Amino acid sequence: MATEQTLIIVKPDGLIKSLTGNILSRLSETKLVIIGAKLVRVSEELAKEHYKHLKDKPFFDELLHYIMGDVHNTHRVLALVYQGEGAIGKVREIVGDTNPEKAHPVSIRGAYGRITTSGVFENVVHASSSPEDAEQEIKLWFSPFEVVGDIYPTRDVVLEKVKTKVWA
Ligand code: UDP
Ligand code: MG
Repeated sequence: MATEQTLIIVKPDGLIKSLTGNILSRLSETKLVIIGAKLVRVSEELAKEHYKHLKDKPFFDELLHYIMGDVHNTHRVLALVYQGEGAIGKVREIVGDTNPEKAHPVSIRGAYGRITTSGVFENVVHASSSPEDAEQEIKLWFSPFEVVGDIYPTRDVVLEKVKTKVWA
């Protein structure tokens, strides 16, 4: 089996329900290693890019509000990169089906997800579903410096006049 990377996101409902510890414990059953982890305040731009494959769905706007934390009034998600043999499949197995009602009750989504009255699947976690998606998603959410190890090729660029913030 090939070494893979996969992006996991503890979505706003996972955070607000205090499920982070539980989710990380469940994922540790895989014996994969965490090579990246950070809290992210999801911008509309990031949300739209992450879910661009669903942009024509009737629930798209609600999905954006959900991942941005508007629905749960907690504007952050926990983004993680896991690495190891068959990482994508192993994580998806524990995470369960997209639809929490179809997900195995022992899976994370089956145990903790719900379907809202407007039909959005609040399914607690995101997990990449193919090596192509994983690469695209990890590059979208993480910079090369934020993951431990050289997982994808990088190039050097010289930045000039970049405005940023430092502690005062
Ligand atoms: N989603 C939804 N209704 C659907 C399909 C998807 O609310 O009929 C939401 C759900 O939160 C899901 C996300 O959109 O996790 C991304 O959908 P995708 O088909 O990529 O499923 P996933 O890869 O997350 O299992
Ligand atoms: Mg998906």
